[in-house]
Parts: sequence; structure tokens; C-alpha cells
Amino acid sequence: MVTSNLVAASALRVEEVCKSFPVLDVPGTSRPALGGISFSIAASELVSLVGPSGCGKSTLLRLIAGLDFPDSGELLVDEEKILGPSAARGLVFQDPNLFPWLTVRRNIEAGLVARGVLQEKRHEVDDFMRLVGLETFGRSYPHHLSGGMSQRVALARALINHPKVLLLDEPLGALDAFTRMRMQDEVLHLWENRRTTMLLVTHDIDEAIYMSDRILVMTSAPGRIDREIDIDLGRPRDRTSESFLRLRSEILEHLHFAGKAADVSA
Ligand code: ADP
Repeated sequence: MVTSNLVAASALRVEEVCKSFPVLDVPGTSRPALGGISFSIAASELVSLVGPSGCGKSTLLRLIAGLDFPDSGELLVDEEKILGPSAARGLVFQDPNLFPWLTVRRNIEAGLVARGVLQEKRHEVDDFMRLVGLETFGRSYPHHLSGGMSQRVALARALINHPKVLLLDEPLGALDAFTRMRMQDEVLHLWENRRTTMLLVTHDIDEAIYMSDRILVMTSAPGRIDREIDIDLGRPRDRTSESFLRLRSEILEHLHFAGKAADVSA
């Protein structure tokens, strides 16, 4: 049975990370995407990363996932250097990327197949389907599912590998406002239940305040952490409370809402 605290969460540390990409139009030149990023996340902490488009959020997440490498600097999980992808760092994208020809059950099993542990771990699939509320949808195919349900499959597929750090790249970005709010509660419930360290990339300031222990605000060209904001509000949070709204306007003001962060929606 998947209940609480089965996974030892991990701390994450990013130290002076720089990353440039070649400018295709001007051969032999490159443009810095990340200009010396440093921060750390404690084990079991839920931290959001917000910032304007192009400031390097996805690049940073890819480096933490081990899908790419920094030009300089270090990324560490529990003091161990990140040298490539690992099931211990789960990744969930905006597009749930489900296999359309596989049932919900098989899609969740795909996480185990990728690690070559399907035989030993198959018994956990029912637990994880229950955890995300899809226990009666095991035989359904992705085209039968709503956006929210598909994203729950993607979450279960990542969680079945018991990641020590879960990286969420705008996972709720494609959902309508009501489904999004419900899913925020569901992700929070999963987090409270399992205490997996989570790093959430979002464009939605309300989502960041509602969910996080701390918000890292990035600025662009090159991407840097501009500010860290502790969210000292008890949970469950009230999106209409005075303290919530005060924080919201503070962050928007900080991002110069009408200017460089014009794409950061509220
Ligand atoms: P964000 O996720 O905040 O929108 P990205 O991490 O996608 O930002 O991109 C940061 C910067 O790096 C952008 O200027 C983008 O064009 C550039 N970039 C990202 N990936 C590549 C790549 N593979 N090749 C060239 N430039 C890239």
C-alpha cells in the first residue's frame, strides 16, 4: 500500500551554474541562457520557480534532470553530483506525453519498464492508480481521459519510481482554471502525503503562492535568480486573504508586471 513517507526525500543544490547556447544565425558565437545560478532546496521542500518566458527555467530543469550539462558550476542531489538522468529525479511536463496505444495501467507501468523493474514492482501499480484517483480507469486509453486525468497518469508514472526529487515543468499549464485549481490541491495532497522534494516551474503567480514553501524569482538575459520569497502562510491557503493578495501584488510589482515580465500571468 502506498501511504505516507515511503520515500526519503533529497536536498538539491545548484551552485554557480552557467549555460550558453550557440547562436545559429551567427556561427561561432553563443548566448548565455543561465548566468551563474545558485540556490538550494531542502529535503521535502516545495519550491516554485517563476519568471518571464526565455529566462531559462526549462534549461535549468533539464540540467537538474540530467538531460543536459552546464558549461560551469555544479548541480548536486544530497551532495552527489548530477551526471545524467536518473529515476530518482522524476520529471512531469505540461504535455503528459502518454502513450496513446497503451491503457492507463500500462502507461503507469511504463515508468517501471523504463527501469527494468516491472516484474518486482508491478504490484505497486494499483496503489499508485489509487493514489491519483484513477483506480477505476486502469483499462481506459488516453483518449478517454480529460486533461486533468491525463496529468494524473503522468504524475503516477513519475511517482511510481519513488523519485527523491520531483521536477514539474508547468504541469498544470494546459488545464482550464477550475481543473487547474483542483489539480493544485491534488498535487499538494500528494506532496503532503509523500513529502517528495518538489521544484515547480510555473507562469502562474497565484499557483506559486498557493502551493510553495518558497518562490524563486528569475530574471532573463542571462537567467539569474533575482529574489527568493518565503511563503509563510499556513495551509490550506486562502487565495482571497489579505496576506495572499499582498504577496501577489508584491511579486507582480517586483516583476514589473507591465514590462519585462509581461507574460507572467496572474
Ligand atoms: P524558459 O523555460 O524560461 O521559457 P528556456 O530555458 O526555454 O526559457 O530558454 C532560455 C534561453 O535559452 C532562451 O533564450 C532560449 O532561446 C535559449 N535556448 C534554450 N534551449 C536552447 C537550445 N537547445 N538551443 C539554443 N538556444 C536555446
